[in-house]
Amino acid sequence: MPPYPLVEPGPWLDPAEALASGQWIKWIGGASNHDLVALEDLAALASLAGAHCLDVAADAAVVAAVRRGINWALAQGLPRAPWLMLSLSDGEDPHFRKAFFDPDRCPAACPRPCARVCPARAIAASGGVHAERCYGCGRCLGACPLGLIEEQQQVLAAEQLAPLLRSLGPDALELHTSRGRGAAFARRLGQLQALDLPLQLLSVSCGEGAGAAGGPLPSLPAYLWQLHGLLRNSGWPLLWQLDGRPMSGDLGAGSAQAAVALLRQWRPELPPGLVQLAGGTNGDSRRRVAAAGLAAAPVAGGIAGLAYGGSARSLLQPYLVAAEQRGQGLLACPDLWPLALADLRQLWALAG
Ligand code: SF4
Ligand code: SF4
Repeated sequence: MPPYPLVEPGPWLDPAEALASGQWIKWIGGASNHDLVALEDLAALASLAGAHCLDVAADAAVVAAVRRGINWALAQGLPRAPWLMLSLSDGEDPHFRKAFFDPDRCPAACPRPCARVCPARAIAASGGVHAERCYGCGRCLGACPLGLIEEQQQVLAAEQLAPLLRSLGPDALELHTSRGRGAAFARRLGQLQALDLPLQLLSVSCGEGAGAAGGPLPSLPAYLWQLHGLLRNSGWPLLWQLDGRPMSGDLGAGSAQAAVALLRQWRPELPPGLVQLAGGTNGDSRRRVAAAGLAAAPVAGGIAGLAYGGSARSLLQPYLVAAEQRGQGLLACPDLWPLALADLRQLWALAG
């Protein structure tokens, strides 16, 4: 154990208090990320660093790994557990895909640009895509000069929902949708409502992307108002997640700027409910949100909080690699925990 406390003195707001006060932080593990070893380690450290919610794939093995991580953090003295959120989709969505290629079709002399652009180390020096590690960011798709990489969607069938969600018992769900997909959203919502789950929160994630082919698309606020009409009697507290540039927070200030620009453009026109910013969020986001006058005012036109995926992943990647080089997981390397925690807290502006 390190010779100093891992748990900050606080205050440790519970997730509902954090939402209500605009201090909510969600860690995104990835809707199609099944890297169980890394997810357990990252969930553990994200919990200990103060995340109020962990958002992961609706998958039994993933949830078991993340719960192990949360329990590890509680054993270190974490005063309250984060909510466990599972991500679902109402149709094809970049968050719910994996890349695939047949390595036997690749020229032996290919310098493998696909591997170079992959932020998840899902493509090694030989072979194809390591499916468990791939979280669908799509950067490899355009990197292959021969166009050999394709995407495979991972959307849950309706009949899979009930047994899965009842057995996993999430605190919260996130339903990803796209403009113009109101009918598919209504179907998925109906399937969820039939389960009568005791949720603390339903998050709806949507960005500027289009989900329906043909015909004019509604603006983002117009589409969310349409969904609000479907949701207002659901009984679940509602969080709108504005998804700026999906899975791009590790790409720098441009992504953070784009996400905040989306928020600035549409925040005044959104339907009732709390708002969270995601998709391109990184260490530059909180400053930009504050500069736009949108911070910590969840009801009065601001946001309830921020969600971090790719930026948190890239921050902690060196620690995962360092542990791997020792032949161990990150949780077996206590000398790395304080550094990783400090990085996360700084990213989330929770550093003392
Ligand atoms: S670049 Fe993205 S989509 Fe391609 S293998 Fe890596 S994680 Fe998957
Ligand atoms: S870039 Fe294309 S051809 Fe080269 S290794 Fe990757 S998938 Fe194969």
